[in-house]
Amino acid sequence: MRALEVVALSIVLALSGGGTKRQHVCPVELSFTNYPVSGATLQEVRAAMRAHGPRDESGDRRFATAEWRVHWSWKPAATGGIDPESVQLRCTATIRMPELAWPKVLDGLEEARWAEYRQRLLQHEMNHVRHAERLAPEIRGRIQAWARHAGSVSAERAQSIARGVVREMRALDRAYDRRTRHGRTEGL
Ligand SMILES: [Zn+2]
Repeated sequence: MRALEVVALSIVLALSGGGTKRQHVCPVELSFTNYPVSGATLQEVRAAMRAHGPRDESGDRRFATAEWRVHWSWKPAATGGIDPESVQLRCTATIRMPELAWPKVLDGLEEARWAEYRQRLLQHEMNHVRHAERLAPEIRGRIQAWARHAGSVSAERAQSIARGVVREMRALDRAYDRRTRHGRTEGL
């Protein structure tokens, strides 16, 4: 389950001070949105999720989705190209999850099963977010490595490097969903 978009805030953050702080990680700014589901049993709730779940980027309905974005920016170098030390990253993600509509009609046992189920669902979506979190620092790292190797790095080259990393993030997401069959092997 993934719906990925990339926003390249191309260039020029006017940083005043603080620009020397090295950022090796890209902590994800997470937000959640819920959609209501109801039913008398977990099975009925799952049927409601199938009918009303959010659509992924292929247009297929999913029980939940994680949509992450990686934003990058940099400052131009005085000598042309970009300043590799100025690369800034920002990671955001929105997870869409089902939530039982009020009044809840599940009995105690089913509600406990639902709570466990929802937790597994959340774990699955969080794993997608972690793909972005884990790889995003590569954008900065590879741009700097390029600059060390080539002596400078153009904005076009930096964009290309950044997009390449994002492709790897998407590939991780796809492989994860293939491996788990969109979470079915994880009890979803
Ligand atoms: Zn998934």
